[in-house]
Amino acid sequence: MDKLPDSIKKLFVSKDNSDKTLPDNLFVECPGCQEIVYRPKLEQNLGVCPLCSYHFRISVDEWINFITDANSFLPLFEEIVSVDPLNFPGYREKLESLYKKGLNEAIRTGYARLDGIKILMGIMDSEFIMGSMGSVVGERVARLFEQGMNENLPVIIISRSGGARMQEGVVSLFQMAKTSAAAKKFSDSCNLFISILTDPTTGGVSASFSFLGDIIIAEPNALIGFAGQRVIEQTIKQKLPEGFQRAEFLEKKGFVDFVCDRRKLRETLVKILEIHRYRR
Ligand SMILES: [Zn+2]
Repeated sequence: MDKLPDSIKKLFVSKDNSDKTLPDNLFVECPGCQEIVYRPKLEQNLGVCPLCSYHFRISVDEWINFITDANSFLPLFEEIVSVDPLNFPGYREKLESLYKKGLNEAIRTGYARLDGIKILMGIMDSEFIMGSMGSVVGERVARLFEQGMNENLPVIIISRSGGARMQEGVVSLFQMAKTSAAAKKFSDSCNLFISILTDPTTGGVSASFSFLGDIIIAEPNALIGFAGQRVIEQTIKQKLPEGFQRAEFLEKKGFVDFVCDRRKLRETLVKILEIHRYRR
């Protein structure tokens, strides 16, 4: 591959996974081991590098395909869409262009089945304004918990977010309290909430519902935290420890229950649901 001229190479090798999901190119350069990986192989491996186990960021549709039973996902609350409460410059246009692309807000919610067990599921979509939590994300998360309470179903949410949605100002900050209150009510109804933290889970989402799971699972090496590392260092004028805000560090400190390889996630979730007596 190295011998090819750059102009040809870039047609089918993507170097960068920082944008949102698995790149479309036929070959992808793994940011973990710098090896070239064949895309279909990567897909078969649930978006995990077969050579070094680097976890690529994957799209909502890929999550649904990789984790839930085939054709079991039934969307809920998609009719709730964002307005522009503060007349924030450019926000309305941004929303419209994203809707036109077929995206439907920064979280998709719905019913699904895991090995036959009925669940309610939320999957955050970082392609939609960095997976930021505005009023719609808050409302959908709160309704997901309410639905779970009414039907005695477990709720599983896969988080991936840059935090609160700046364009909705204080309205987006309300969502932290709203989703936390909904999670508490759900918890009081003795149902199970499993929160899965993927790369990155930061800001207002990490400071609200995503850290309120009865069981909190993180993906390997995921960045998880509230404020960015540089901001904290500049504020406290101290160097932060190695691996700070990474999944394994948080596991060691007790902030997450365990780190789980994506290839083991489905069976792990099924086991947890069975232990909690959710039946098929
Ligand atoms: Zn790799």
